[in-house]
This record gives sequence, C-alpha cells and structure tokens, in this order.
Amino acid sequence: MGPLCKHCGKPIPKATRHFGFTPATLNNRENGQRFNSGYGMYLDEELRPKTVEECRRYVNDQIISVGRGPGNYIYSIHTWDGESYVWGGHFHSQSCAAQFGLGMAHNFPTYSTSTYREALKARDEKDATPRRTKIEK
Ligand SMILES: [Zn+2]
Repeated sequence: MGPLCKHCGKPIPKATRHFGFTPATLNNRENGQRFNSGYGMYLDEELRPKTVEECRRYVNDQIISVGRGPGNYIYSIHTWDGESYVWGGHFHSQSCAAQFGLGMAHNFPTYSTSTYREALKARDEKDATPRRTKIEK
C-alpha cells in the first residue's frame, strides 16, 4: 500500500517516468546504432517492442502502462522505480503541499528555513547601519 497525503488523506500517485520507442530513421539514427536519450530510444523495425516482455529489454524499472500505435507497436511506456511518489511521498498535489505549508507556518511561527533566517539577519543589520540622508532645500 502506498502513502497517503498528509493534508487530505488521499493516496499519493507514484512518480512515474515516460519512455518512448520511436522508429529509427536515417536522420535520428546515430551511425546505424540504437540511440538512447534517457527518455526513449530510436529503434529499427525489427527491434520495436510489441509486448511488455519485449519492452523489458530496454528498461529496468517496472512497466505500469503502455501506449500502442499503428501496427500494434508499443510506442511509449510509463515506468516506476518501485519506491518514488510525487511530492516526496508527503502530498498528493501541489495544492495540498501549499495548504499544509500555510498551516505549518501559522501553527509553528518560529520555525523557518536557514535561508529565511539569514535574509532576516541581513535585512536587520542593514536597517541598523547609520545612514546620512541629504535633504534638498
Ligand atoms: Zn492531498
């Protein structure tokens, strides 16, 4: 069972990756070899997958969905590493993360990031520096 959103309690979606299988052409093929961009591959006709098992030759992660195109070829898949969820596994959406953050800021007013504390210190030091302001007559 996956984690639930700390704000609304809904299940948190898996963080999946898209991976495409594109037919190789003279333009996209590199020296006649398969080219792997990290998000997909250009494949010669005989290497294009038609089954999930054939897709497994190209990716290590779990295959959770496939998209089929002309000729019943699989042209794209979504994979999951088996452990990653969106929003760090804490929230199901950006809206819930923001609302939870507002609630935390309200309920724990002295809690902040070091970046905030450094900015606050720099601002206060600047305000404390004596300054002379010319007043035009
Ligand atoms: Zn939520």
